[in-house]
Amino acid sequence: MTSPYPSAVRVKHLTRVYGTDEQPVTALAGVDAGFTGGTFTAVMGPSGSGKSTLLQTAAGLDRPSSGQVWIGDTELSQLSETELTKLRRTRIGFVFQAFNLIGALTVEENILLPLQLAKVRADRQWVAEVIGRVGLGDRLRHRPSALSGGQQQRVAIARALATRPAVIFCDEPTGALDTQTAAEVLSLLRAVVDEHQQTVVMVTHDPVAASYADRVMVLADGRVVRDMPQPGAARIAEELASLGRTQQKAG
Ligand code: ADP
Ligand code: MG
Repeated sequence: MTSPYPSAVRVKHLTRVYGTDEQPVTALAGVDAGFTGGTFTAVMGPSGSGKSTLLQTAAGLDRPSSGQVWIGDTELSQLSETELTKLRRTRIGFVFQAFNLIGALTVEENILLPLQLAKVRADRQWVAEVIGRVGLGDRLRHRPSALSGGQQQRVAIARALATRPAVIFCDEPTGALDTQTAAEVLSLLRAVVDEHQQTVVMVTHDPVAASYADRVMVLADGRVVRDMPQPGAARIAEELASLGRTQQKAG
């Protein structure tokens, strides 16, 4: 059945092969998936299963070997490099495990940077809402180095939200954070989905982190092997364990 809601992101028969003709490495082996607008999806799976490659090809940071990606109605393979860069800057937010803030800029300058790069005027009301939502109003003139890890990741999330993108991709956003700080960042992602109808696709290894999502998709060997609506942390852990056993038998 097709969803009554438009997909913010859709990928069709997505493949990505790295390496050489003699020694190909298949990172994605044909992934079909849609991510409905205003939903929060967790992407899980063993190390090397293709999670980061899925995010990077869906975000237009990397070109697939074959298959298609749509951001809203725009199919990425049709775009020139210049058009793709523009789409990336205006329609996509990306949050990395390592925060990737610019140390020489203040918190406020980091948050506004995507708007500057995209040469679009800031929607002041939206930017103020984002800064308030991430709780950084009194840190705007600080440098990232003066902030804790959790605060830095909140700056990165605010930066990803600045252009009000169609989707925010997060690759292990809590991987470098302690449990308490991770919980704050996950609640923030949950809130931007619930209160601001943003779309979030997040890679995580942690079943507790994944339980914040509306849906959990599991990859193995570059394919989607599970797709579960709101499974809860216990069920997620069980499915990952059973997947591990299947893989051990196969290997
Ligand atoms: P995950 O994020 O699930 O750990 P990745 O998407 O990073 O997995 O990687 C999937 C597979 O593709 C792995 O076998 C990895 O070694 C390989 N791979 C990823 N990026 C590259 C690259 N730039 N060059 C060659 N192989 C790569
Ligand atoms: Mg990865």
